[in-house]
Amino acid sequence: MPIPTEITIVEVGTRDGIQAEKRPVTTEEKLCLLEYIVAAGFRRIEATSFVHPKHVPQMADAEEVLARMPRRAGLEVEALVPNVRGMERALRCEIDTATLFVAASESFNEKNLRAGSAAMLKAGAEAAKMGLAGGLKLRGGVVTAFGCPYEGRVPFEAVERVVGAYMEMGCAEVNLADTTGMTNPSAVSRLVEHIAGKFPTARLGLHFHNTRGAGLANVLSGVQAGVDTFDTSLGGLGGCPFAPRATGNIATEDTVNMLAEMGVETGIDLPKLLEGVACAEEIFDRQLPGQLLHAGVPEWEAGAV
Ligand code: ZN
Repeated sequence: MPIPTEITIVEVGTRDGIQAEKRPVTTEEKLCLLEYIVAAGFRRIEATSFVHPKHVPQMADAEEVLARMPRRAGLEVEALVPNVRGMERALRCEIDTATLFVAASESFNEKNLRAGSAAMLKAGAEAAKMGLAGGLKLRGGVVTAFGCPYEGRVPFEAVERVVGAYMEMGCAEVNLADTTGMTNPSAVSRLVEHIAGKFPTARLGLHFHNTRGAGLANVLSGVQAGVDTFDTSLGGLGGCPFAPRATGNIATEDTVNMLAEMGVETGIDLPKLLEGVACAEEIFDRQLPGQLLHAGVPEWEAGAV
């Protein structure tokens, strides 16, 4: 299959990226990162989450972040929405897309998302109805689609069930997530081909964590399987408060650079994005996992330093 010539990157740094940070990240710090992210030209940003603040205190300021973040024509702002309560909050804010989420594995739902799969899907369906009526686009997140920290291998049928439910709910896109970074390039292409075969009209996105270093290889495999939408976080910030041992998302700048070197367009201004990564390293006071800021963008012109 020819690889897509354009890829959409969904920046999730201020959502997935910081929700597991130990110290509270201030609203001002989030807005500072969003300034750089918006200036770098992303078309889609998953800015925050309407998960209950008791469960994810880092996202308690979702309303304020959305009210104050910079906007630009053509920019779609997205937020994670777990249930009807979250959707009520989301509908009072200026967002384009609500991302629902359910794990493909029963134990992950029960242990980490506090409800069984059936209850999670029911809550999702109620929230979906409300979101669609309110004019939002829906995105369905399939957590642990590529492996579960409790159950290990997740059968394709389990992923299929959640994707089928999302299609019925009216999701415009389904996002398959390797929540704890367990997968590999072969497994990525097998699952993508399986799901695309079962749901030929589904728009698919992929969400990888670089927990075991296979992140960019998995992106390449997804691209080669025809997927054109990927979640990444600047600097490779990330982790999941509910997922044991989950580490950072794949780094936006490393992904954008790899794709650019392959001749695949993302529309993102890399130098501007790297300014944002530098700002994130200042905010979090440590070197982040993303490598491009420290390695530099490759220079190919004769005489370049
Ligand atoms: Zn994640």
